[in-house]
Amino acid sequence: MNEILEKSDPLLDRLKQVVGAGHVVTEAEALAPRLIDWRKRYQGAARCMVEPATTAEVAAVVRACAETGTAIVPQGGHTGLVGGSTPFEDGRAVILSTRRLNRIRDLDAANNTITVEAGCILQHIQQAADEADRLFPLSLAAEGTCQIGGNLSTNAGGLNVLRYGNAREQVLGLEVVLADGQVWDGLRRLRKDNTGYDLKQLFIGAEGTLGIITAAVLKLHPKPREVATAMVAVRDPAAALDLLNELQEATAQSVVSFELMPRLGIDLAVKHVAAAQDPLANRPEWYALVEVSGGSGDGDLKAALERTLMEAYEAGTVADAAPAENAAQREAFWHLREAIVEAQRHEGASIKHDIAVPVSSVPAFLDRALAKVRDMIPSVRPVPFGHLGDGNLHFNLTQPEDADADAFLARWEEVNAAVHDIVHAFGGSISAEHGVGRMKVGEIQRFKPPVEIEMMRAIKHTLDPQNIMNPGKVVEV
Ligand SMILES: Cc1cc2nc3c(=O)[nH]c(=O)nc-3n(C[C@H](O)[C@H](O)[C@H](O)COP(=O)(O)OP(=O)(O)OC[C@H]3O[C@@H](n4cnc5c(N)ncnc54)[C@H](O)[C@@H]3O)c2cc1C
Repeated sequence: MNEILEKSDPLLDRLKQVVGAGHVVTEAEALAPRLIDWRKRYQGAARCMVEPATTAEVAAVVRACAETGTAIVPQGGHTGLVGGSTPFEDGRAVILSTRRLNRIRDLDAANNTITVEAGCILQHIQQAADEADRLFPLSLAAEGTCQIGGNLSTNAGGLNVLRYGNAREQVLGLEVVLADGQVWDGLRRLRKDNTGYDLKQLFIGAEGTLGIITAAVLKLHPKPREVATAMVAVRDPAAALDLLNELQEATAQSVVSFELMPRLGIDLAVKHVAAAQDPLANRPEWYALVEVSGGSGDGDLKAALERTLMEAYEAGTVADAAPAENAAQREAFWHLREAIVEAQRHEGASIKHDIAVPVSSVPAFLDRALAKVRDMIPSVRPVPFGHLGDGNLHFNLTQPEDADADAFLARWEEVNAAVHDIVHAFGGSISAEHGVGRMKVGEIQRFKPPVEIEMMRAIKHTLDPQNIMNPGKVVEV
């Protein structure tokens, strides 16, 4: 029966002509993982998933959808955390997977650029750069699965933003299929180009609502000759901030990562995640995972890191520190940091936030937000951790022990709203690196000036007048 229906669907027939029947997926079992988001908050449905292998095929798919007014949901690695790559429940949209657009088109070591297709896995791009004795610095825990098209569409952040900037700052050029199927070839490899509006930046962070990124020219950097890492017990978040600034000065701005973690996060990671070990003995309340890199490889950076930590110890801002003595120890420190997310899952439900405030405001934000959530839910277990160096915290709240998970989660929006009000009071952002997707469409309207929302709608209307590009995400039209 299903087969008969499929055969009589002219859109599916046309898509099959474009990409081959084997790449128009309609079987329930194959579609299922593409219909639910990573956090399992949204369960959608779709007409099919189409897997084009070239930019021309993407353009032909978009034209077919545009002619029939069919919504398109672009999907990369499907690791996004705000429901952006999950179709709505009505089942009318076509998922466009970039999985097969996975070629590295060019690596120009002299120009320090790499030109990649949207479906390249982030880790493969890092490896290609490494083989050419270069660094592609974008790095996040999902890097073995997420794709560069998704990274750019969410303007991903991750672990090295402090030094290299977020995804937006890694891009020199883009190739995009527009909502009417036209191809914009903006694959420029230029460091300077002041010929009008910087259109590529519109598509970066647009979460698929303005067009489909099919390829990008990315910047490469010199490979650091030295990396020095330490796990540090800091007195409190204010002391962590002091340490960050001292380290920047001592290492000529070579701090790549500065991650803040609370006691409870470390305890849960050690309790639940294999091989996660606490390298510090005295059970401090706050940890900082610090990494500096660059230099000439003669040990200068490690020496500067250790000297700064010693001075901070004498000043009382640092209570203890464990410098990584080798690559395995460095990996163990990062494993502990990354284990925090998984560990929270074992403790029941969590209410999550991805917020940013000015770096200097992090300590005051934490004081106020922690007091507020403890006032709302007295035995809540906060695990605020993340990229202190970017002012970006994952202000996550684990449910009280023995509480009912559903009852706790029922307060998600109320708690989000209270925390976001505090973020706003500090001049912050309610989505630092994960995007808006479906989850925060309503919430951004509470904080952005109306004129900003109007400009977003005007851009959306101009580039996608039929509202077929990932409709309902980022901005309501
Ligand atoms: C364990 C884990 C750790 C993470 N850590 C971080 C982190 O540290 N920092 C961070 O920023 N994020 C993090 N994320 C979130 C996520 O990995 C990133 O947002 C990532 O950039 C998404 O890439 P993706 O290929 O999975 O995109 P998807 O989830 O497939 O898509 C994300 C959005 O982009 C759109 N899209 C995808 N491809 C295209 C394209 N080619 N053209 C147009 N639109 C497109 C989709 O429609 C969707 O709206 C993490 C996620 C997980 C699961």
